[in-house]
Amino acid sequence: MARKKLRTKDQHIIRLASMVDGLGSILYEKADLLSYDCDGFTIHTALPKAVVFPENTEEVANIVKYCHEQGLPFLARGAGTGLSGGAIPLNQEVIISMVKMKKLLSVDLENRRAVVEPGFVNLKLTNSISDKGYYYAPDPSSQYCCTIGGNVAENAGGAHCLKYGVTTNHILGLEVVLPNGEIVEIGSNGVPDEPGYDLLGLLTGSEGTLGIVTKITVRILKNPEDKQTVLAYFDKIEDGSQAVSDIVSAGIVPAALEMMDKTAIEGVEAAAFPVGHPKDIEALLLIEVDGIAAGIGEQIEQILDVCRSRNVREVRAAKDEQERAAWWANRKTGFGAMGAISPDYLVQDGVIPRSKLPEVLQKIKKISDDSGLRIANIFHAGDGNLHPLVLFDARIPGETDKAMEAGSACLKVCADVGGTITGEHGVGIEKREEMRFVFKDEEIMAQTDIREVFNPDNLLNAGKLFPTPGRCAEVKKEMKEAAIS
Ligand SMILES: Cc1cc2nc3c(=O)[nH]c(=O)nc-3n(C[C@H](O)[C@H](O)[C@H](O)COP(=O)(O)OP(=O)(O)OC[C@H]3O[C@@H](n4cnc5c(N)ncnc54)[C@H](O)[C@@H]3O)c2cc1C
Repeated sequence: MARKKLRTKDQHIIRLASMVDGLGSILYEKADLLSYDCDGFTIHTALPKAVVFPENTEEVANIVKYCHEQGLPFLARGAGTGLSGGAIPLNQEVIISMVKMKKLLSVDLENRRAVVEPGFVNLKLTNSISDKGYYYAPDPSSQYCCTIGGNVAENAGGAHCLKYGVTTNHILGLEVVLPNGEIVEIGSNGVPDEPGYDLLGLLTGSEGTLGIVTKITVRILKNPEDKQTVLAYFDKIEDGSQAVSDIVSAGIVPAALEMMDKTAIEGVEAAAFPVGHPKDIEALLLIEVDGIAAGIGEQIEQILDVCRSRNVREVRAAKDEQERAAWWANRKTGFGAMGAISPDYLVQDGVIPRSKLPEVLQKIKKISDDSGLRIANIFHAGDGNLHPLVLFDARIPGETDKAMEAGSACLKVCADVGGTITGEHGVGIEKREEMRFVFKDEEIMAQTDIREVFNPDNLLNAGKLFPTPGRCAEVKKEMKEAAIS
């Protein structure tokens, strides 16, 4: 970032600039702030007061202490790839960008752990240790640019989280700056069964509302001895969905079990990494198994048999690593690929019991027909994590609202079959109201009470994760009044 003279009389900006590495580490002019008015949820925008770029924990703590004392709203930001609006500065926040805190601090192969700063990019961790035979399991499709700090805040998942678990299963310790500027260490860094409350579990997935993560100890895994990938094309989506259930019921735990429907296939084939999937099928499955080399062949045969028994049009294992990598590159462009077939799209993120897949896909189709908007489906089918992608054109008046309504209706369907409203992208501002699909007022209040313990002044990332006070505030007031009388 080019150094430039500070051109403001705003005392807060002048003080904040003095806490980081001089003028090059703060942005405050409108033209610069425009890049920070949203994250991957582009439907809502708001300008921050300033963006600061600390380089270490002490700088973060000083900035937070100052904001706390002065009553300035603030929030942390990683790479800004979040899809639910968690990093959008709704209240003119001071954005504390973690991108300069991007060091790999240590790797301990013996104890299978690594320590990173929060701005360290997810994929860089695997790239840094793969030559030694290790990797970091959580693999969001944005892993080439999203930060591990952002992954902790969102409890990010990924295609290979079916077998190995999402981010929370790989976090061993955190250093956190609390909303008053105090620095604390959470977790046991890998020693099992720490006594007391599971604060590590609470912080992971708290969407940047309880503290700012400044150091992360993660679990790293030994590379599997072997892995193989199967691609299956189905004429009927019901057959593909049924094959998913059959594979899991057969006792196979694939490392990944992904599904794309016809509209999604149209998108990925029109984007950067086409592989020649037929455009007239209703669904494809991408299934990967890994582990000890001896058992893999048998599992692949079982998977091929299951697919054949469900009327698969074509099914085969990748012939080599190059073909396997091409299939995955094609799948991982999934969301962005929608840009090739639609001016705008909204990514949804519901979770359902696997057995409800055919019923839910039917209902999503009805939402699409009723709204007149195309909905593509890309999902982590193995763990029931759906991503309906609502395609729309924001230039057409009213279409953005229609897309939001269709997205919300998809989440209602997921909640109604016993699922939930987010599997990995978080609630942010996008799904605040949908929290009411899965929680009663009292249950939401129990959670906002926890937020108040950590973040009593609500200066850190206010307005995220929970519905605006509304009915909850009324119930709380009624309960307090009842207790007094
Ligand atoms: C193309 C694409 C594909 C994606 N695929 C997946 C996927 O497969 N799986 C998945 O889970 N997600 C996916 N995502 C969503 C997104 O990449 C993840 O949510 C990711 O974890 C966000 O990381 P980030 O660094 O971009 O965080 P940001 O977007 O900058 O921030 C996200 C939230 O984390 C908070 N935060 C950031 N850093 C910190 C910190 N150090 N301390 C405390 N709070 C912090 C922010 O305040 C905000 O609330 C995808 C996004 C895109 C654009």
